[in-house]
Amino acid sequence: MMSYLRAESIEHALTLLKESASGAKIIAGGTDLFLQELPGHLIDIGFIGELKEIKEEKGQLHIGAALTHTLAANSKLIKDKATALAEASSLVGSPQIRNIGTLGGNVINAAPAADAAVALVALGAQAVLIDLEENIRCIPVDQLYSGFNCTSVDCSSEMLLKFIINTCEPGEGTAFVRFAARRALALPMANAAARIKITDGVISEAYLVAAPVKPAPTRLTETETLLHGEPAEESTWLKAELSAAGEVAVRGSLLRCSADYRKHLVGLMAGRALRTAASRAVERKEVR
Ligand SMILES: Cc1cc2nc3c(=O)[nH]c(=O)nc-3n(C[C@H](O)[C@H](O)[C@H](O)COP(=O)(O)OP(=O)(O)OC[C@H]3O[C@@H](n4cnc5c(N)ncnc54)[C@H](O)[C@@H]3O)c2cc1C
Repeated sequence: MMSYLRAESIEHALTLLKESASGAKIIAGGTDLFLQELPGHLIDIGFIGELKEIKEEKGQLHIGAALTHTLAANSKLIKDKATALAEASSLVGSPQIRNIGTLGGNVINAAPAADAAVALVALGAQAVLIDLEENIRCIPVDQLYSGFNCTSVDCSSEMLLKFIINTCEPGEGTAFVRFAARRALALPMANAAARIKITDGVISEAYLVAAPVKPAPTRLTETETLLHGEPAEESTWLKAELSAAGEVAVRGSLLRCSADYRKHLVGLMAGRALRTAASRAVERKEVR
C-alpha cells in the first residue's frame, strides 16, 4: 500500500526519506510525478517554508526549490534581478499548474524543454542539494541531467534545496521566450533564454540557451562566441538567428513539429530572446 507523509522541515524530510529506505520519493506539486509510476512512499516537501524562500545576499539570489511558478512569476526580486526566470514561470501550463508546480520539480523531472529549467541554465544557476547524511553539494543546473527525461539526482536519497543565481547588474539583461501551439496548456515546440551584458554599445558577455535540443537545456556556444564583441544592433541579432539555427541538431516530434520547423524556431526564439535581453540591458544603463 502507498503512503503519503508530509514533511514539516528539511531535517524531517531527510528523516522520513531515511526511514522509508529506497521505496520513497520526494513530491512537491505532484504535477509531473502523478503522471508517472508512483513509488511506495511519497514525502511531501511542498509545505516546508524554508524551501519557498527568495533571498538576495551578496549579489546572489537564493531561490527555494519548492517555490511555485506563481510565486516565482510574481516575485519583485526575481522579476527585477532574474527576469528570464519570472517570465519562464509565468508561461508554464495554466494558473492551476503554476499554483502548485515548483521550480525544483521542473528541473528534477528533466524534461528537455522545461521552461523554468531553460531560464535557470541561461542565468547560470547553481543547484544546491543535500543528501541523507546532510552533505551539501552545489552543481550547475545543466549538469543535473543524465539523459532524455532522466535526472542524475536520486530523489530517494537526495533533495534539491535551492538555486543560486548571480543577480543581474547594470548593463545586463535577461529574457525568456517560447513558441507553442497555444498560449496555455501546451508544451513548447521550442524555447530560448538569454543573458547578455552590453558595455559601450558592444556585447561583452552572452549566454544563450535553447531547447529541446539535447537532454538538458543547451547553451548555443558557437552563437555566444559570434556575439562577443559585436555591436548590440539588429544586424547582429539577424546573424545570431542564422547561427543558432545552424548549430543545433534537433529531433522532430509527431505531436508537435518536424525537425526542420523546430530548427527554424530555435533560430527565431534565440533572436527574440537576445533582442529583448539586450533592450533590458540598455534600460538598466550601460556599464562604462
Ligand atoms: C497540464 C500540465 C501542463 C504543464 N505545462 C508545462 C509547461 O508549459 N512548461 C513546463 O515546463 N512544464 C509543464 N508541466 C510540467 C510540470 O507542471 C512542471 O515541470 C512543474 O514545475 C513540476 O513541479 P512539481 O512541483 O509539480 O514536481 P513534482 O511532480 O512534485 O516532482 C517532479 C519530480 O521532481 C522530484 N522533485 C521535486 N522536488 C524535488 C526536490 N526539491 N528535490 C528532489 N527531487 C524533487 C520528484 O521526486 C519528481 O521526480 C505541465 C504539467 C501538466 C500536468
